[in-house]
Amino acid sequence: DRKPDSGGIAVIGLGRFGARLTDSLNALNYQVLAIDRDPQKVQKWSARVDQVAQADSTDEDALRQLGVADLNRVVVAIGASVEASVLTVLALVELGVPQIWARATSVQHSKILAAVGAQHVIFPEAEAGERLAHLIVTRLLDFVELGDAFAIAKLRVPEPLVGQAMSETRLLDRYGIRLIGLKRSTEQRFRYVTDGVELSRDDILIIEGTIEQVQGFASLS
Ligand code: ADP
Repeated sequence: DRKPDSGGIAVIGLGRFGARLTDSLNALNYQVLAIDRDPQKVQKWSARVDQVAQADSTDEDALRQLGVADLNRVVVAIGASVEASVLTVLALVELGVPQIWARATSVQHSKILAAVGAQHVIFPEAEAGERLAHLIVTRLLDFVELGDAFAIAKLRVPEPLVGQAMSETRLLDRYGIRLIGLKRSTEQRFRYVTDGVELSRDDILIIEGTIEQVQGFASLS
């Protein structure tokens, strides 16, 4: 059963990134119109995706004929060709698509995409690289940057805090850290933390703070 997607989604460019995105949207039960100019890609995908069309996405009329002008969200997943990616975003702006997500492969590319009118610019290589750096150099188990220098992270209880009650830790005063949730090793879900809860070595925490505060908290020893 497909979800009633408010206005529909298209993914343009079925390279590695666009293909994974399309698969993930399908797994979430969203129907996707997938577009690529390469007939072999279209052939390969026609068995897996409900709607797949062959078209040059820099061609505004071709997109209009496919009904792209009526869609609410379109992702331009073309990476290698900056020209094709920029011209595609321009065509989508001309068609009046309300939410254009575009993939950049360099900082300059991301600036051009924003300038021509993409509302959301994503830079997967840069984002994955930055995130990995945080995971490698700290003891963080997971890390998500929220923008404006803030982040949410998952980590084990830092050694100095093991055995302390939450009321003693004064995380916000001392470390600028807000505790969002805690999970005992025997539990499956994170839960709210009340003052009386004592931190154990095997607990997993979800915290929020500036990137600097999160890094500092994670390296307490
Ligand atoms: P990845 O790094 O994710 O593999 P690529 O940039 O190599 O991404 O792949 C981009 C995809 O976009 C390719 O399948 C290519 O055929 C498609 N593509 C490139 N230009 C156009 C265009 N003008 N119209 C439609 N599809 C295009």
